[in-house]
Amino acid sequence: MVSREELRELEEITAGEHYYVSLYLNVDPITNPKGEYITHLKNLIKEAEENTPKEIYKSIKGDIERIESYIVTNKREFKRALVIFSSGMTGLWRIYHLSVPVKNQLVIDMTPCIEPLLDLIDNYPRYLVLIIDKEHGRVFIVQQSEIMEYAMVHTPDVPGKHKKGGWFALAEKNYQRHIDYHVGIHLKEVEKTLEDLLHNERIDIIFVGGHEEARTRFLQILPQHIREKVKGEFNAEILIRPDDVLQKVSPLIQEYERQKERGLLERLITKALKGDAAVLGVDDTITALWEGKVHILVIDRDLAMSGFRCKGCGFLTVNHMDICPYCANNMEEVEHIGDYMSQKALEQGATVEVIAYEKDLLRERGGVGAILRY
Ligand SMILES: [Zn+2]
Repeated sequence: MVSREELRELEEITAGEHYYVSLYLNVDPITNPKGEYITHLKNLIKEAEENTPKEIYKSIKGDIERIESYIVTNKREFKRALVIFSSGMTGLWRIYHLSVPVKNQLVIDMTPCIEPLLDLIDNYPRYLVLIIDKEHGRVFIVQQSEIMEYAMVHTPDVPGKHKKGGWFALAEKNYQRHIDYHVGIHLKEVEKTLEDLLHNERIDIIFVGGHEEARTRFLQILPQHIREKVKGEFNAEILIRPDDVLQKVSPLIQEYERQKERGLLERLITKALKGDAAVLGVDDTITALWEGKVHILVIDRDLAMSGFRCKGCGFLTVNHMDICPYCANNMEEVEHIGDYMSQKALEQGATVEVIAYEKDLLRERGGVGAILRY
């Protein structure tokens, strides 16, 4: 998983005199059972070599060779996709293993090509998970069933235990006040870290774990605009392993996503039934996509629907057609018409909301629909 913070350094690189090589490659063992990605890579390299002026290609040839040799020799580490940025001239070498697919591409340019990576970060929901106690705060980011530990706040001034003996009542009371004071400082510090993180990573949903007392106290000091991003709480020890955090928070995330889907579907269906800038069913949705009117495409994750696609202009239909009515090119049969609809939606800057839980509600109405811009 990648965080925006990790990419900031790459984002700040401005064009100078050196070239950068950026590679996005699907290496998913399911779609590449025989290591087909090596062929894909070789084709990308060949294409790049043909389309790049000789002098420039010469300056990055070493990067290409390093990338190629890395991919040929390290396949055990691979997930679904691989992103590599390399620039031997500036000393840059970065590898990201992704659990989501990418569009294969090899880019040679004056800066690293990070836009597709930023888009990926934004396209899959991310959640912030905080584990808190009186002197620690651990922050995790969860995305697509993956978890990464992101930050740790430690405020060591909090005295852990009461000293035994020798304390008379007043001192005991002062001591307690001292602890409370430091816990207060600690919680404030965690809040500050949290606020920065939410801003930098553009995450909107938080789950809070820890003992009930620490959680309650923390939630009390949160300003309203952060408090309302907290969508669930759970019990946890501060030293909990990341995998166990994921296990505890997963049901909360599912419940949150389920409710969000239900809300979206209710809005879509109500609007469509009223004829108020929304459509349901594959035919009307395709029409809206081709009119460029789609704001949010809502689609069943397992939509199994084949159709026909124009080899020329990409027009889609579920009706059998040999010739495209728009450009008269040949139509071909395609298996997953939903994938092409999603692609078309993304091309026009629409959001794609994939329905994973409340599928029946959408299936009854054609498995796909769209909220329109107007
Ligand atoms: Zn056509």
